[in-house]
Amino acid sequence: MVVVGAGLAGLVAARALVAAGASVVVLEARDRVGGRTLNEPIGNGEVVEVGGQWIGPTQHRLAALATELGVETFPTYDEGDNVIEWEGSLRRYRGTIPRLGPAVLADVAQAQWKLNRLAKRVPLEEPWRAPGAERLDSQTVWSWLRRNVYTKGARSLLELGTEAVWAAEPADLSLLHLLFYINSAGGFESLLDTGGGAQQDRFVGGSQLISLRLAEELGKRIVLDAPVHTVRQDDDGVEIVADGVLARARRAVITLPPTLCGRLEYDPPLPGYRDQLTQRMPQGAVIKTMAVYGEPFWRAEGLSGQATSQDGPVRLTFDNSPPGGSPGVLLGFLEGRFARELGRLEPDVRRARVVDCLTRFFGPRAAEPDAYIERSWADERWTRGCYGCYMPTGAWTAYGDALRAPLGSLHWAGAETATVWNGYMDGAVSSGERAAGEALAALA
Ligand SMILES: Cc1cc2nc3c(=O)[nH]c(=O)nc-3n(C[C@H](O)[C@H](O)[C@H](O)COP(=O)(O)OP(=O)(O)OC[C@H]3O[C@@H](n4cnc5c(N)ncnc54)[C@H](O)[C@@H]3O)c2cc1C
Repeated sequence: MVVVGAGLAGLVAARALVAAGASVVVLEARDRVGGRTLNEPIGNGEVVEVGGQWIGPTQHRLAALATELGVETFPTYDEGDNVIEWEGSLRRYRGTIPRLGPAVLADVAQAQWKLNRLAKRVPLEEPWRAPGAERLDSQTVWSWLRRNVYTKGARSLLELGTEAVWAAEPADLSLLHLLFYINSAGGFESLLDTGGGAQQDRFVGGSQLISLRLAEELGKRIVLDAPVHTVRQDDDGVEIVADGVLARARRAVITLPPTLCGRLEYDPPLPGYRDQLTQRMPQGAVIKTMAVYGEPFWRAEGLSGQATSQDGPVRLTFDNSPPGGSPGVLLGFLEGRFARELGRLEPDVRRARVVDCLTRFFGPRAAEPDAYIERSWADERWTRGCYGCYMPTGAWTAYGDALRAPLGSLHWAGAETATVWNGYMDGAVSSGERAAGEALAALA
């Protein structure tokens, strides 16, 4: 078997195939494993993650894998007050939703209630069969917000939430996709919350440790620096051509995000419907930034390190200090339109804009970090955006059934193909398990 990509999905698929007795080669374009997870050392043996990092309740596949591999978790720092920059001033609050007056709060609550109710009706295996799927897939989240959210404040907060979860703008996303994604995570709150939600815990040693441990197990079966460019199929199976490597197998598991699947050469060519799917799954835009300080000084001031801003360009921050609390790390996300805009700036100009935000949120001590780290995922040749791909209008209903359906000897995996926790590390893990099972069943 050949596995294309050594992110979580590819490594998990390879491990399952090896466990079933298959002979496996994993072809990876980068000079490292982990894909969208990547540890960055910050000294004294500590790391921060510039890619995916959090794990939350109900992410059972990821949790089980981490436990098996001996990778432990610790809670995200979530004590003290959050701050919000709203209409030009800074306010402190507790919990996920800031106190912005009863009308705005009630409006957000009714919108979330409606979205959760609609989301529950979207079948995770076949979102295009949801009641009223065509109507839901014909409108953007922007259009829905215009019609269903009545106050400017609530619209602004939900726009912020959309950027935070999908790294895209409400105008980019199909409403059906948003609903599928909410259901896939078990509710809107699960996506947004720190305690009790997707941002609840972090991995000791960084999330990439999971991939590094899987890679140790797989050893020489992984070939790094081997970007695949051509996928040929014939009656005997599949031939995968990468720089410097040609691998033949009866089956292949391809784990690239759908956009990148569309950039491979296929012989025979992909059927039109599968190629057109890959043309309709753009990646979101994220620049993840981290400012490192001697200590997490905000904690002593009763602040959690979590900030939200109406103005941006940093719209969301977290305390991302290592488990022992030293050094202090503030994580700032540039997402959606802000990542698109700031991604074009020179790095030092961007850094100044980010640090200016941190200083507005946390005071003058934030102005001079000891170190500054950032990763712009749209610029990454082997990813091209993040956190993952989303569906614009019309894509799920016209092409959704091509997302996972095997094509000859090819099986598709990756976080984007998951039904549960789609787009997350947990989804990547379950997709690898599923695709490996499919490939083995096809050979049985
Ligand atoms: C900034 C950021 C923050 C995130 N935060 C979270 C979070 O907190 N929690 C969470 O659960 N998820 C988070 N995610 C999402 C999560 O990281 C991904 O869903 C998950 O890692 C995807 O794994 P994958 O194996 O499906 O894909 P990938 O990790 O993208 O793996 C695909 C692999 O294929 C390789 N590849 C690409 N092209 C080729 C080619 N032509 N030939 C060979 N190999 C190729 C790539 O190098 C890569 O290694 C975040 C992502 C980012 C970027």
